[in-house]
Parts: sequence; structure tokens; C-alpha cells
Amino acid sequence: MKTALITGVTGQDGAYLSKLLLSKGYRVIGLIRSFMGTNTVRLKYLKILDQIELYECDLQDLSQVIKIILETKPQEIYNLAAQSSVSLSFQQPIGTLQFNINSVLNILEAIRLINPSMKFYQASSSEMFGKVEELPITENSKFYPLSPYAISKVAAHYIAINYRDSYNLFTCCGILFNHESYLRGNHFFVKKVIRGALDIINGKREHLELGNLELKRDFGSSEHYVEAMWKILQRDTPDDFVICSGRSVYLKEIVEYVFNRLDIPLNKIITKQTLFRPTDIRDIYGSNEKAERELNWSYHISFFDVLDQLIEEEKVNYSEDIKL
Ligand code: NAP
Repeated sequence: MKTALITGVTGQDGAYLSKLLLSKGYRVIGLIRSFMGTNTVRLKYLKILDQIELYECDLQDLSQVIKIILETKPQEIYNLAAQSSVSLSFQQPIGTLQFNINSVLNILEAIRLINPSMKFYQASSSEMFGKVEELPITENSKFYPLSPYAISKVAAHYIAINYRDSYNLFTCCGILFNHESYLRGNHFFVKKVIRGALDIINGKREHLELGNLELKRDFGSSEHYVEAMWKILQRDTPDDFVICSGRSVYLKEIVEYVFNRLDIPLNKIITKQTLFRPTDIRDIYGSNEKAERELNWSYHISFFDVLDQLIEEEKVNYSEDIKL
């Protein structure tokens, strides 16, 4: 039986990846910040909490990372833990940079010292490309990060590549574009729109205030993208892959689609300049060509179909007020 260690196991992708690996017969080790106060609601929602071995670990403490890897002996490590919000990174740039970079360094140092043949997956992000010069984005596109979050991800990405080049470690980066699910944190855009719309229907709010909607993004589904993460680590040679839907949609189109589906007048949407980010990417989408060719992974789901599913799931669970 293979053992996989997942950091960020309590997050959206951590939960879906755990479910996938368990279905493939893996022993899944999940690292959490602390047994006190960690939100395991996503693992409970997918009914897999009792199948995962949870370990408390401060990923900024190398000795703890070494201890857990020595004890659990994983063949594959998926590093999904990160302060993952672009907006929050503008308010907490130092914390975001420190955690998102040091955690990667500690895991890679631990792998180098303990067993360099372990396979390592780094959760890189399309935010790294930032000021885009040419579309679609590929693995060779230039980075121009526009937020502290994106800078932390560029640093972590290059650290992973440097450990591959310098120490011959099996490190791979999945450069994922936005991906959503019901289990996405409530403060992220798509969830905020759907929940805000349901709040209007249920009389909890009059309007929904949003930032700049004239931006375009490439959106996909978390449940499908985690399969690409697994496939990236099943290869014989380490490499980096863009994982995306291949097309971008206006944020405005998403909001209008949700409001129309729920029969809410569009004048309930208010855009506020104060909610605009200091810097933002205007349009971005990627190419899955390399992933299709070398991973045999493809994605052909319209984001509006994903939205239909998210609206339904949110409606069913709305009264439960699950804390995501
Ligand atoms: P998420 O739901 O925000 O999950 C983040 C995970 O990181 C959670 O388990 C969280 O633990 C953990 N974490 C955050 N800060 C931590 C800290 N200081 N110490 C320990 N653990 C910490 O993110 P996601 O959507 O699953 O994304 C997974 C990874 O992919 C992240 O690295 C993200 O940056 C990256 N990514 C995501 C997307 C996307 O569209 N979703 C796109 C590209 C890349 P708690 O539960 O304790 O908070």
C-alpha cells in the first residue's frame, strides 16, 4: 500500500485529493496545524475524516516536519498548505510570504535529508503570471506576480525546481488556475456570489457588494483538478504542468448567471471601488496541451455547468450554515 502525506488536508483541494487517494487504496496522512481549533468540516462533509491519519505539525518548524516524515514514511508528499487568499495577502504580506515559502523549504530539506527518492508535489498558481503578455499561458510563460500571494508562490515554485536541479529530488509543480467547489472557502469570489444571492432570497441582505467585475479568469472544478495532481506524481520523471480549463469568463458573467438562475434582479449587484484590489490581472487563461499530451489528463467542462452544480449544492446546505 502506498502512503501519501498531504499538507493543507483540511482545505478544499486537500479534502478532494484525500478522497481520490483513499479510493485508489492509499494510506493518507494529513497534516493539520493543531487538533485544537482546526476546521475538519470538509473532511467530514466528504465522509472521510475517520479514514485519514491526522498529525499536528507546524510546517515552519523543520524538526517537526522531519519527525513526521520519519515516522510515516510517505512515498508521495502533496504540499497544498498555504495562505491561499490573494486579498488577505495584501493585508498580511509578511505572514503570507513567510508561511508559503518556509513551509516548502522545510519539507524539501526534510526530503533531502531523509529520503531523496520521495516524490513531492507543489501547489503552484496561475497568479504567478500576473501581468500577462501573451495568452494562452503555458509552462514557459513569464512570471510577473502582482500580489504578495503570487510572489510567495513564485518563490516556492523556484525553490521546488531548484531542489530538483541541485539535489536531484523528484519535485513537480502543478500550476493550477482557479478551481472551485462547494468546499471552497466562503470568502472566495464564486462562493461569495452564490451565498450572497441566497442571502438576498432569504431576506438576510438587500444587495451584494462586489469589486471589479470586468476581469476575466479561467475557472475549473477542484474535484477534477486533483486527479491531475495525482497523475503528475505518477510519472517516471519530475516535471511542471499547467492545469486549467483553457478559457476565461468575465466575473460579471458569473454573477449575472447566478442571479438569473435564482431569479434575482441584477440591480441588486453593486460594484464598489473600495473593494477593487490594488493590482489585478485583467484576463488570463491557460493551455492544457502539455497535460493532455504527457499526463493523458483533459478537461472539457463548461464553468456554467460547474456553477449549476454549486448553486444546487449551496441551496441544499444553506440552512445548515456549514462553516467553510
Ligand atoms: P484552501 O482551501 O485555502 O486550503 C489551504 C490549506 O492550507 C488549509 O488546509 C489550511 O489549513 C492550510 N493552511 C493555511 N495556512 C496555514 C498555516 N499557517 N499553517 C498550516 N496550514 C495552513 O486552499 P485550496 O483551494 O485547497 O488550495 C490548495 C493549494 O493550491 C493552496 O496552496 C493554494 O494556494 C493553491 N492553489 C489554489 C487554487 C484554487 O483556485 N483553489 C489555484 C491555484 C493554486 P486550515 O484549515 O487550518 O486553515
